[in-house]
Amino acid sequence: MRFLVTAGPTREPIDPVRFISNRSSGKMGYAIAEAALASGHEVILISGPVHVDPPRRAKLLFVSTSDEMFDAVDRHVRACDVFVMCAAVADYKPAKVSPTKIKKHPANFSLDLIPTRDILASFSTQDRQFLVVGFAAETNDVEKNANRKLREKNLDIVVANDVSAADVGMETDENEVTIFFRDGETRKISRTQKEIIARELVNIFANARENCLTKKMS
Ligand code: C5P
Repeated sequence: MRFLVTAGPTREPIDPVRFISNRSSGKMGYAIAEAALASGHEVILISGPVHVDPPRRAKLLFVSTSDEMFDAVDRHVRACDVFVMCAAVADYKPAKVSPTKIKKHPANFSLDLIPTRDILASFSTQDRQFLVVGFAAETNDVEKNANRKLREKNLDIVVANDVSAADVGMETDENEVTIFFRDGETRKISRTQKEIIARELVNIFANARENCLTKKMS
């Protein structure tokens, strides 16, 4: 199968030396790309700026802003079988990017922010031919928020992790996830290395994609 995986944060520029970003390390997305390759799948990995060694044998596309990530997904998503949107895309970006460095003044300063385009929701159209997986990093009401995302963004699967604990989830090597499926089924993978979770997730995604195909044919 052909996997399209996004990973890492995006950076939304404020001026030539500053940006808005988040704490995503890219480790989970990279581990999924690696696990998919190890299972014999083809992988295109679209990555924001991270400090993780890229999987050899993946086709790598490095991007910085959410708009660049959107364009990269747009170019490749229709040819994939499984689209895994693991990247922590910034939700907002500055309304205007200053072409010169913004000077410091003693007064308060506020930035006008506008929402970024939701990449996942833009490509999870009703007539799509690929499986769509979203991620939900939540600090509270994990189940409620994951199920809402599943419905509102028209996803096949949501992988949710609770990022409220400091030693698991973002920026760490371990994770604990709950997987929410469209038909209401849920599965939990207890706390373990991201590599082990990734292997399990890749199997789940590939099976789910197989099942969609079987359903379409029958
Ligand atoms: O709504 P929320 O941002 O929590 O949803 C998370 C999911 O949506 C993740 O899979 C993330 O990659 C995706 N997302 C996106 N484009 C955005 C924001 C989030 O694709 N602008």
